[in-house]
Amino acid sequence: MNTLKSIAVYCGSSDSNDTVIYEAAYQIGKNIHEIGARLVYGGSKLGLMGQVANGTLDHGGKAIGVIPDFLKTKEVVQTNLTELITVDTMGERKMKMHELSDGIISLPGGFGTMEELFEMLTWAQLGLHKKPIGLLNINGFYNDLLAMFDTMVEKQLLSKENLGILLVSDTVEELLQKMKDYKPLPVPKWMNRHQV
Ligand code: AMP
Repeated sequence: MNTLKSIAVYCGSSDSNDTVIYEAAYQIGKNIHEIGARLVYGGSKLGLMGQVANGTLDHGGKAIGVIPDFLKTKEVVQTNLTELITVDTMGERKMKMHELSDGIISLPGGFGTMEELFEMLTWAQLGLHKKPIGLLNINGFYNDLLAMFDTMVEKQLLSKENLGILLVSDTVEELLQKMKDYKPLPVPKWMNRHQV
């Protein structure tokens, strides 16, 4: 059983026009606090990112933002965070969020969210980390992406086993349970290192 004391959330920096997604983002911030975890995220007050942080902070939870210096403007940064960590590059941010978390959840988002999710998935399939990675498929947002993953498996460009690294659910309760129960794959035999 994995302990989830610190959860990194990747999500859109824009406001979705889908109210179900928009409201779910706030709710997830609240859920993270309710299960006794802290939120680690990109530090922005914009879009779904701001919603998640408000959901945690409004209910007395802890939210840590990790933001690159060039994004740290008054228009972007969330002001009432438990802690704001400033880094130099996007790469450093990803590494810092990785260091501070023991599980990852991706909510709906755009390129930035995809980039963060995919890097964590590729690290996991190389055995570079053992953290559970959850995809919250709110209102079917990720149906097309999930279909694309099936095509990858069908064309033998992704193994079924590695597809299983990504934990998917349309409810936060089920997703968190899958993350707690997650058993990482063994490190590939051809690898000669175990950590990043
Ligand atoms: P996107 O899905 O393209 O909106 O990008 C959101 C993700 O990329 C978040 O998880 C952030 O870590 C990062 N990101 C993109 N834009 C911003 C921004 N304006 N402020 C803070 N982080 C951002």
